[in-house]
Amino acid sequence: MIMRVKALGIGLMAMLVLGGCTSKASSKHSAAVRVTAKQKRTERRKAVRHVNHGQKRIPVSRWHKTAGAARIPILMYHDINVGNSLQMPPKQMQNQLHWLKDAGYYFLSPDEAYVALTQNKLPQRKVVWVTFDDGYKTMYTHGLPMFKQVGAYVTINEITDSLTNPNHVDLQQLRALSDATGTTVNIESHTVSHLDMNKLPMAKQMTEMSYSRGRLQQWLHTDINTVAYPAGHYNRDSVIAAQKAGYKMALTTKPGLATAKQGLLQLHRVRVNPGLSKNRYLELVQTGI
Ligand SMILES: [Zn+2]
Repeated sequence: MIMRVKALGIGLMAMLVLGGCTSKASSKHSAAVRVTAKQKRTERRKAVRHVNHGQKRIPVSRWHKTAGAARIPILMYHDINVGNSLQMPPKQMQNQLHWLKDAGYYFLSPDEAYVALTQNKLPQRKVVWVTFDDGYKTMYTHGLPMFKQVGAYVTINEITDSLTNPNHVDLQQLRALSDATGTTVNIESHTVSHLDMNKLPMAKQMTEMSYSRGRLQQWLHTDINTVAYPAGHYNRDSVIAAQKAGYKMALTTKPGLATAKQGLLQLHRVRVNPGLSKNRYLELVQTGI
């Protein structure tokens, strides 16, 4: 039986190979022409943009002014995993990224979010800033392939002392995320050790904010301009510390759309719990509640 299946397999392969040869031979000339034209197009694209980093950008010069203050949904995720309410099952995460893309959402980078909030300008009506806190290992194992599938721009708020934790990305994976093609993964700060900022003296808050920013910049050779307060816990000192440490934006867990009126160092976010229908999810992204 095994022999017969094998023989059948070989026979099929031979037919496929032969069939392939015939069709290739008949269109050899036109294929060569097509390849040349394609190569030219590729070369032109390369000249403009060396690497594919995901969804096409709209330059700020073409953004439109918003009627009032710009309001943007900053989505808050954590782990991509099956489990508690802070974990988004992989299939649901994948669906949600596709829902955003199919609904025509423009994925904002942190820099673009900053322009939107400070200049009250948007590249288009539907925009979203997707953030993941904590830097779980699943960002690399589950997240990265999904981000590439939709060309998403996402932000990971990284705890710099977590790199040796087996549940979190290590430095090599963090760099791979930061350098990935087909998507843009911005790494931002979630402090050094994920302590409740509001329970710490000012000096310790400064260390947590400043040291994490320095390490990330040193590791990734990128500007780190955003910090997410661990567990959303912060006080007046935290806002001052974030500013002194050089951050332009800080993210809280207060619910709703973000706007500059909240303070750039106290921006609200939209928590996404598992189990949402497509309609409910898109409503949540649109309204922030
Ligand atoms: Zn966290």
